Amino acid sequence: MTVSIASGRVLIVGATGFIGRFVAEASLDAGRPTYVLLRPTSSKSKVAKALQDRGATLVHGLANDKEAMEKLLKEQQIEIVISAVGGGQILEQLSLIEAIKAAGTVKRFLPSEFGHDVDRADPVEPGLSMYKEKREVRRLIEKLAIPFTYICCNSIASWPYCDNTHPSHLPPPLDHFQIYGHGTVKAYFVAGSDIGKFTMKTVDDIRALNKSVHFRPPSNCLNMNQLASLWETKTGRTLPRVTVTENHLLSLAAENRIPQSIVASFTHDIFIKGCQVNFSIDGQNEVEVSCLYPNDPFRTLDDCFNDFLLMMNKDDDQTIKLKQISNDHEIPTPNKPVVE
Ligand code: NDP
Repeated sequence: MTVSIASGRVLIVGATGFIGRFVAEASLDAGRPTYVLLRPTSSKSKVAKALQDRGATLVHGLANDKEAMEKLLKEQQIEIVISAVGGGQILEQLSLIEAIKAAGTVKRFLPSEFGHDVDRADPVEPGLSMYKEKREVRRLIEKLAIPFTYICCNSIASWPYCDNTHPSHLPPPLDHFQIYGHGTVKAYFVAGSDIGKFTMKTVDDIRALNKSVHFRPPSNCLNMNQLASLWETKTGRTLPRVTVTENHLLSLAAENRIPQSIVASFTHDIFIKGCQVNFSIDGQNEVEVSCLYPNDPFRTLDDCFNDFLLMMNKDDDQTIKLKQISNDHEIPTPNKPVVE
């Protein structure tokens, strides 16, 4: 059963970012009145313009400006707020939450989560500090009794580089695979478009009210060895596999380079400790997304890897090279970290 607020206005904070853009596009795809909060300092005016051209309304401001946000929420009669601020701005949501409480128009708030269940997962530092901040955001939401949904979508469908915050900007490796540990621990990989699509489905679904929604598409549960084999069948090439040991991941995390060491700590949590697969979803306040929408398929990792292939062409000397990738994101050289 869904509560009918589909016409309710959606405000997306962080729509110009990596995850937020998928959510904003899905909101527009779903035909919802979509408002995009744009920071005055944003360097992503092209992304904002593309969303505006698709029908989004741009509004200007800062999520951490409580008075301005309260005014905006009231004036625009916003009913759903989705935040996808980056890992460095998690606590900026505290003022936004206060504004949501004061405005009184919002029927659902989705804070910037889009990863693991932060109350359950226990990565090493510096990832743990980010989780502590996300936990602090959760506690304020619950204390102020704001209706919420926490999206635990696991990994984005792409090669999980251990030093890159936005791995789906990069194709899987072309020279060698880095395999974490024995490469046998599984994880869930979800296409960015599905993160957006299923997030938007939950926003007015009463079954997702005050719950953590976990994304566990069974077809997309693979370990590193399987991921490497899949890419090899796509490219028709066999690549060397280099083991990255648990200790090496821990030493990358201990370097405390932000954001790369945060990614290393999550990589350790996922592919060594098995944080995505070592628990069952049976608590009162949690639900698996496929149980909510059993007839809605997820894109498979196979499809997503086909997308990467389409982005590439074969050179005369048979080396595979990157072709133009058709979005506004700049494509960094493989293995070069993307700085948040
Ligand atoms: P990005 O850094 O790519 O984008 C952050 C966005 O937030 C930008 O649009 C930025 O706007 C906006 N923003 C930041 N601060 C404010 C503010 N005070 N007011 C208004 N807008 C603001 O974030 P990510 O997409 O990397 O991260 C989003 C969430 O997704 C995080 O919780 C992160 O942990 C998670 N994540 C999950 C991944 C996965 O594989 N599951 C992968 C990556 C992230 P501007 O244009 O001005 O910069």
